[in-house]
Amino acid sequence: MSIYLSDRFSGIEAYVPGEQPQDRSYIKLNTNESPFPPSSGVSAALNQAEVAKLNLYPDPDTREASLVLSRQFGLRPENIILGNGSDELLAFAFQAFCDARTPAVYADITYGFYSVYARINCVESRIIPLDASFNLIPSDYYNSGGTIFIANPNSPTGCALQADQIEGILKENPGNVVVVDEAYAAFGVQSVVPLIPKYGNLIVIHTMSKSKNLAGARIGYALADSSLIADLNIMKFSFNPYNVNRLSLLAAVAAINDADYYSACVEKLVATRSRATYELKKRGFDVLPSGANFIFAKPGFIGGEDYYLGLKERGVLVRHFTKERIKDFVRITIGSDEQIDRLLAETDAMMQTKE
Ligand code: PMP
Repeated sequence: MSIYLSDRFSGIEAYVPGEQPQDRSYIKLNTNESPFPPSSGVSAALNQAEVAKLNLYPDPDTREASLVLSRQFGLRPENIILGNGSDELLAFAFQAFCDARTPAVYADITYGFYSVYARINCVESRIIPLDASFNLIPSDYYNSGGTIFIANPNSPTGCALQADQIEGILKENPGNVVVVDEAYAAFGVQSVVPLIPKYGNLIVIHTMSKSKNLAGARIGYALADSSLIADLNIMKFSFNPYNVNRLSLLAAVAAINDADYYSACVEKLVATRSRATYELKKRGFDVLPSGANFIFAKPGFIGGEDYYLGLKERGVLVRHFTKERIKDFVRITIGSDEQIDRLLAETDAMMQTKE
């Protein structure tokens, strides 16, 4: 930290993304990426002719992608804003809807970026503990007096709320915005996008990083009443009007048009998730129910950190969090069947050395 950093940020702790060590090749099950490539339509869209247009800025209004997305969801383009990953849209929502009178409200165990965005925007956080089984209790959020951020399914736990539970939270917070981060919803929860016409305080955020196999393209989008999208656009146009690059916009449109391919990928991952859960439970792990493309698991034979370190030494990366409540767990991204087989084989080998 230099002597020039603004006092506002002294002592700030930045978000730490999942590690990407370069010392050797790893089975990478630590950042919830898809093990599958993008669809053939995406490769075809990113062609020489489009590369030759990179001298030109992208469309700041992202008209084509917004139109295709709005049709997919039965909404209008005014109900959509695209972001450079859904992280950027979350950042815009913290800027736009939290202030000295309106804290950010979120769970104690949830996506780590929420506390970072609150801190960098100098807004207070009201942190609500999940229950002993890591479930969010909807009534804890009634009349919250703040802007609510809920990841559904939650990360890193994978636990999910039903749509009617989220509707209860929307109803009981008519004066506040409720942001539902559906980064992982395609893997097993009912989306609340159909509630958008009914609730003017609902923002749903999606990403193409997980169920659309496009983490490297950095594409997210938010869906909401047009007045909320207009607010988010003020943030965008005050920060970076060309926030989504030309090639990523093309990739987004192609991916939306290749829906069947992605549904098949999601189906495979859901089947592998069941198998991984079954196999780990058989080995004495406590595995939380997951609606996401990862599982949160507590090994019985070793502590969470030692399991993570042991797997890393054996060439398999999973994510470990040091927070007290969850330090005995690791988050394991559901990869291909072969990757999960390797995780299980290395786990067996570790268990044998413990015997
Ligand atoms: N929300 C949640 C709950 C996440 O886990 C992630 C991935 N780190 C994101 C949002 C951001 O995803 P992206 O910026 O890749 O769209």
